[in-house]
Amino acid sequence: MPLSSQQLHDALRTVKDPDLHRDLVALNMVKDVHMKGDDVYLHIELTTPACPMKDRIQADIERAIRAKGREAGSQIGQVSVEFSADVRKPNQKTRDGQSPLPGVKHIIAVGAGKGGVGKSTVAAVLACGLARFGAKVGLLDGDIYGPSMTTMLGLEEIPGRMRDANTLMPFEAHGIKAMTIGKLVDPEKALIWRGPMAHGAFKQLAMQTDWGELDYLIVDLPPGTGDVPLTLAQLLPLSGAVVVCTPQKVAQDDARRAVRMFQQLGVEVLGIVENMSYFVCDHGSEYDIFGRGGAELMAQAMNLPFLGAIPIHPEMRINCDRGQPLENWKIKDIAATLDHVCQTLAAQVSIATMSGKYVQPTLSIR
Ligand code: ADP
Repeated sequence: MPLSSQQLHDALRTVKDPDLHRDLVALNMVKDVHMKGDDVYLHIELTTPACPMKDRIQADIERAIRAKGREAGSQIGQVSVEFSADVRKPNQKTRDGQSPLPGVKHIIAVGAGKGGVGKSTVAAVLACGLARFGAKVGLLDGDIYGPSMTTMLGLEEIPGRMRDANTLMPFEAHGIKAMTIGKLVDPEKALIWRGPMAHGAFKQLAMQTDWGELDYLIVDLPPGTGDVPLTLAQLLPLSGAVVVCTPQKVAQDDARRAVRMFQQLGVEVLGIVENMSYFVCDHGSEYDIFGRGGAELMAQAMNLPFLGAIPIHPEMRINCDRGQPLENWKIKDIAATLDHVCQTLAAQVSIATMSGKYVQPTLSIR
């Protein structure tokens, strides 16, 4: 006797998503399960295409179904699992009851305590990396005072396009959509903008770009704790923020301030990335230039998720200067690290979504 639909679902109720700590049936991830002869066919919908736990979920499903088969005296042949992914949207709206970017499921800010730690590099890695897993991703260069995405994404030669007098079309490159003030004004001029002008420029970039449907919009913020993060948190419902930090003590002190800023704005910190963590020489020896692990310890001390450690690698700098972010996945030993950081972030976004933790943009400015 094959297992009944009820028995199959009972088996799946014992399988928990390792990140979300709830079972697959409760999470509504089981889109189909049926038997044909002795074989079991499943369709499981993940909450992100960058799911870090896919293999484990598959193994746990197979184990649970075989255990149920033994218990019921049913023969179980092959267990085939087909995965798809649908990034879930937080069921949160802005104060006005509607998100100003209704097609965008998650807006994630990338910040840093200070400049030069690789914040923009990490923002580009996160955007391209999530897109490599199959997600629809946008990257907004919100670093109004020092936009670097024109260079990092190699947008120099791509002409800007307007959909109409008020709507910018994003640039499409490396599998993502991107918008940067660097393509709209002379970057030298942007550097001297302050307060209201920066606020206005950022607002226009974010709101008047036709992003279309996106799973994740990554926003590269200016370094430090200025006006733009405040504008962003007021303007858009953020799923959370990532803080990039290098390992040394002085960088951590600044990163801690950035974390506090997000927390004061009511923005969940989804995790810390340690960039320029260590250096691997051509012979494979690793050197801890800045004191590897410092940012991880900081994350632990602040009770924040640690998304991973990216080494300093000359080719990463070269790819960045050449506007070829995807080439970073061709550097030996780096691809797995970058994928890990992207997957850990995606898992944290799913966790925040499922636990109902998201920004309530009800700011009081004192
Ligand atoms: P920020 O946005 O924090 O100011 P950037 O992302 O612009 O920093 O990075 C500063 C410089 O450091 C850039 O030249 C970039 O290519 C380089 N860089 C960043 N991260 C790495 C890394 N892991 N390995 C090598 N170079 C890096």
